[in-house]
Amino acid sequence: MIRFSIHNQTELKALLAENKIPAFRYGQIENAIYKNFITNFDEIQTIPKDLRELLKENCFYQSLEVEHQATSKNDQTSKFLFKTTDDLLIEAVLMRHLSGRNTLCISCQAGCPMACTFCATGKLWLQKNLPLYEIIEQVMYAAKLVNDEWSRLRNVVFMGMGEPMLNYDVMKQAIYMFTDQKKFDLSNRRVTVSTCGIVPWINKFTEDFPQTSLAISLHAPNDEIRKSIMPVDHTYDIEALMASLDNYTDKTNKRIFYEYIMINGVNDHLKLADELWKLLEGRLAHVNFIPYNAWEGTSSDGYTTTPRFIIEKFQKILQKYWVVSTIRATMWDDIDAACGQLARKKKDEQNEIEKTQD
Ligand code: SAH
Repeated sequence: MIRFSIHNQTELKALLAENKIPAFRYGQIENAIYKNFITNFDEIQTIPKDLRELLKENCFYQSLEVEHQATSKNDQTSKFLFKTTDDLLIEAVLMRHLSGRNTLCISCQAGCPMACTFCATGKLWLQKNLPLYEIIEQVMYAAKLVNDEWSRLRNVVFMGMGEPMLNYDVMKQAIYMFTDQKKFDLSNRRVTVSTCGIVPWINKFTEDFPQTSLAISLHAPNDEIRKSIMPVDHTYDIEALMASLDNYTDKTNKRIFYEYIMINGVNDHLKLADELWKLLEGRLAHVNFIPYNAWEGTSSDGYTTTPRFIIEKFQKILQKYWVVSTIRATMWDDIDAACGQLARKKKDEQNEIEKTQD
């Protein structure tokens, strides 16, 4: 009976030990999987046939099914919708930058309990925390695809579905695997964890991962607006959040990325740009403006994207006060590539189908 994922190193090492197989065989398997991108155990020529049979009997390579895969018209962005063995949908997005810098955005939960009003994933609530292998499989799948394109995966960001700090132990093990030279070999600063701001876990993250990059979904410079769009602000307000972020910069000397989604008439009033620079003044910050990506289902909230010229005005105000910022390019509009959009769309379709079947 197939028992565990090939990515479960503890189980794999135990299996080899149980069968009195010398430890160096682990390194050969690791090399075949992570460096040569071999997906079929039969093709691992460096190990003996009986070991290949043992792997086949005990391990699976990929549990996720590719439910849908789409590439944007300019070939730069690919979106993957995976189905777990328990029939949940999760997404990952691969962004190929012209510079050759490939970034994969991954999910850490199916759904999300944080309920931010503008986010499609929040509307799914929490379905489950992903186990380690489902996170690693997303990366493995994209890393192989990129390798087939004669390139390399360089960056991984936890900005897909879910709140990584709420699946902390699994996220931690995943980061160890991403940065393991014998596995994905990513540099620590090229792994980014994005959080809506769960303070105790940010403090723990600072202790555990002083080299890893941190992004904060801020989305408003004051508690009144932030509370109205991000329920987490009721528990950890901006003051508490900034204290934990100051601790992160003190300990790591690293710049923090602040995500600021631009929603028309909600958090884009120009006076808020003043509040924002005042909040970030003197702090090591990089603001990333994200034009709000409309998805079916938000029309009831009436959210629309801030016009480009207002985002630019907003940015100019920050520039004037030396706060570094960028406006994120929406290079994926044609494939529904914002957080949770595709999974939600599919779920709505399923619901529709179920309704018509009733
Ligand atoms: N829970 C984590 C990571 C997932 S969200 C966090 O909150 O940071 C990844 C980013 O996508 C967040 O900054 C989130 O606010 C943003 N996002 C969510 N829905 C969006 C939408 N409809 N349009 C644009 N950005 C969105």
